[in-house]
Amino acid sequence: MTRTSTIIPIAAIAFLGTAMTLLANATWANAQNPTENTTMTQTTDQYSQSGHNITRLSNKQIQTLAKDLTEEERKIILNDGTEAPFCGNLLDNKLDGTYHCRLCKLPLFGSNSKFKSGTGWPSFFTPVDPDHVLTESDNTMGMTREEITCTRCGGHLGHVFPDGPKPTGLRFCVNSASLEFFEDGDTLPKAALPSKTQIAYFAGGCFWGIEDRYAKLDGVLNVISGYQGGDDSKTTYKEVLKGTTGHAESVKVVFDPSIITYNELLSWFFRIHDPTQGNRQGPDIGTQYRSAIYTTSDEQFNQAQAFIEAQQKEGRWSKRKITTELRSESNAKFY
Ligand SMILES: [Zn+2]
Repeated sequence: MTRTSTIIPIAAIAFLGTAMTLLANATWANAQNPTENTTMTQTTDQYSQSGHNITRLSNKQIQTLAKDLTEEERKIILNDGTEAPFCGNLLDNKLDGTYHCRLCKLPLFGSNSKFKSGTGWPSFFTPVDPDHVLTESDNTMGMTREEITCTRCGGHLGHVFPDGPKPTGLRFCVNSASLEFFEDGDTLPKAALPSKTQIAYFAGGCFWGIEDRYAKLDGVLNVISGYQGGDDSKTTYKEVLKGTTGHAESVKVVFDPSIITYNELLSWFFRIHDPTQGNRQGPDIGTQYRSAIYTTSDEQFNQAQAFIEAQQKEGRWSKRKITTELRSESNAKFY
C-alpha cells in the first residue's frame, strides 16, 4: 500500500469541489488550517474548535480501546477495510443525533449533514468540527482518493469525494462500522464530550491581530476568527469587508477558566485595542471594525459591564468615551 505521508486538513480539498464560494466565508477559511489556530501554551494537548481534546492517542491506548471491536470492525477501522455497500447498520438511520468515532467516541458527523447518496454507505456533506476528521491521499486500488480518518485515534472512516451537495460540495463516504450513533438526549460517554472550557467573543478591529494576541495566552486553547453582530446569517466574508452587513470582525476564544479567567481576558482586550474609536480601529474604518464584546452567560455579561464601567471611571480609557458594544452572543451569532 502506497500512501503519501502528508496529512492535510479536510477543508483543503474543498478546492476540488464546488465549494469555491465558501472560501470567502471566514468560518470555512479558518477550517483550512485548524492546527495553526491552536496555540498550546500550557500543555502539549491539542483542542479542536469545539473544545474537544484531539491529542493523538498512543498505540497502546488504541489497542486497549480496540479490545471492544468486533473482528469486522477491527478490519475496517484498524486495517483500512471497507464494508460491503448497502449492508451497514447506519445507512438508513434517520434519527436526530451525532455519529461518533466507533473506537475513541470523538463526535464526527451530525444527522443534519447526512444525505442519501445512493452509494450504499452513510454519506455526510461536512464533519461536526473540521478539526475532528483528517484526510490523507490514498493511492491504493489503482486510483488516488482522499482517505478520511479520525483525528484523535487515526481510525479509518472511509473517503471523501468532491461530488457532494451544497453547501460544501463534498461527500464524506463513511463505513457504518467506523461509527457509533448517539441519538439526541442519549447520555454520552466522557470521551465524547468537550473539555471543561468556556467561550468568549471579542471584536476589536481586524480579527487577525486580536486572534494572534489571544492565541499566545496561557489557558487559551483555541482562537478562531469570524464575524458576528449583524443580521444576515448568509453573509460572506467579502460582504463583511464592505462594511454594510452590520457584522463586526470578531474572534471566538476557547479558554480554560481554571488557568485564565474571563476577567483576565477582558483586561487583555482593553490592552490590545482602543475601545474609544467608534466604528474604526486605527487605519481600518467601518462598522466591521467596531469594538464589541459578545457574552455567553449572564455572569460574563455582568463582569464585562462592570469592567467597562470601571475602565470608563478610572481606567486607562477614562478620558475618552468607551464605545464598546456589549451584547449577549445569543443575539449575535458567530459565523
Ligand atoms: Zn477516533
